[in-house]
Amino acid sequence: MEDKKVVSFEKKHSKAGDKTQEIEYCSFCKRPNTQVPKMVKGPGVNICSECTLIAVQYLILQDGLMSAEAQKILDLLWGVSKK
Ligand SMILES: [Zn+2]
Repeated sequence: MEDKKVVSFEKKHSKAGDKTQEIEYCSFCKRPNTQVPKMVKGPGVNICSECTLIAVQYLILQDGLMSAEAQKILDLLWGVSKK
């Protein structure tokens, strides 16, 4: 009985504590992870989902054409929108 109480409290607590989690800043736009949809963490750097899209668009525009490798990465980023 007591154990259950503790578990449910912890679940509630961690849910409420989402906003107090460690704040990471995007290395590109310097926004905290609380202000962006997603943050990709790398070794010593972070990039938010919006900067990722900008970077991907930039690379595609630079190359003009997408390589098969880039297409693979895009598929991953979009959660494989094509099924
Ligand atoms: Zn960013």
